[in-house]
Amino acid sequence: MKWTIEQASKSLLYSNRLKGLAITSLKDLSKLPFTTKQDLISLYPYGALATELSEVSLVLSSSGTTGKPILTFYTESDYKLWMERLLRNLKVVGIGKGDIFINTANQGMFTGRGYSEAALLAGAISIPLGPASPDKHLRFMVELGVTSFHAIPSFALKMANIAKDTDITEKLRLRVAVLGAETWSESTRRRIEESLNLKAYDNYGVAELGGPGVAIECSEKEGMHVWADHYLIEVIDPKTGEQVSEGEDGELVVTTLTREAMPLIRYRTGDMVELLSGECSCGLETPKISRIKGRIDEMIKVRGISLYPKIIEEITSSMSQLTGEYQIVLSNIDDITVRVEVKKGVKDIEGIINYLKNQIKELTLLNVNIEPVEEGKIEYQGKAKRVIDLRQL
Ligand code: ZN
Repeated sequence: MKWTIEQASKSLLYSNRLKGLAITSLKDLSKLPFTTKQDLISLYPYGALATELSEVSLVLSSSGTTGKPILTFYTESDYKLWMERLLRNLKVVGIGKGDIFINTANQGMFTGRGYSEAALLAGAISIPLGPASPDKHLRFMVELGVTSFHAIPSFALKMANIAKDTDITEKLRLRVAVLGAETWSESTRRRIEESLNLKAYDNYGVAELGGPGVAIECSEKEGMHVWADHYLIEVIDPKTGEQVSEGEDGELVVTTLTREAMPLIRYRTGDMVELLSGECSCGLETPKISRIKGRIDEMIKVRGISLYPKIIEEITSSMSQLTGEYQIVLSNIDDITVRVEVKKGVKDIEGIINYLKNQIKELTLLNVNIEPVEEGKIEYQGKAKRVIDLRQL
């Protein structure tokens, strides 16, 4: 931590912010200022760089689904340590020698590409297929006998929907999928696992913090292990900035401990999690966080009630008549419309509407409108856009 403060002070971002601040124990952590995405955007491109430019060997970026992309820098050492963390992830989920691994992530500047090289380093056969249609990925998986892949959950769900009730499932040799970069529910997990006949694990990372390799789910599937030798985590109340107690929901705040090119101090991820206590029966002794419950900015306040889109996903993706794609449209003052894709050939639309209304009411206390649309009508934008806010406030 002391090293990180010293290193970070070399960047424009922290040169003034950290002046006169020193920490002698972790209790002093709360004296340090938070860092936000806005800080990084305002100092684009090199404001967060803490080394000479000549020491940087790789520049990647966030997917930029919300505005300007954010750059993330790696020195040679940063890159090596990143690969080390991804290797640990692969080991935890059991991908290694003998595996054939497809990385479905974009192989350009996106940090998800890191898994292509990590798989190769782990001794697997690495296929960096990248962005192609779910059909093409499935075809490759069948033809080449692929055993494992990395994807965002909504992409894996698309493949699962194609494979379901066809002979593709039995032709597949898949065992494991590493999924991340979106919030996904347990029922989405079940659909993916059943239709593709594999075990799906969540993993967590943020481009700004160096990409995937911050935390990974183990075989227990009860939260994610944080690589605490590289990242110091806190969970805070997003309003007050105070740390919340174990078991309470809050915003995940991360401090990097080993990054040279782009150290970040108390970075507010915007992701809502819960700090978990107790030992994990898998034997790994690291701090654990829950899977991501939602984004702070996705958490919708309607009629005084907090609503995470994930709750809607939990319901829609458990219904076999629906594809699992959905959108929440907010309009007028506080009207909520949930748009769902109905699979081709499904007849009882009225029944679906009533069932959804009742389920959502029961779980959220909110009355909503349901708008059924045809399969494929909800626009897919890499990371699916789940909430459309048209409210006139
Ligand atoms: Zn574990």
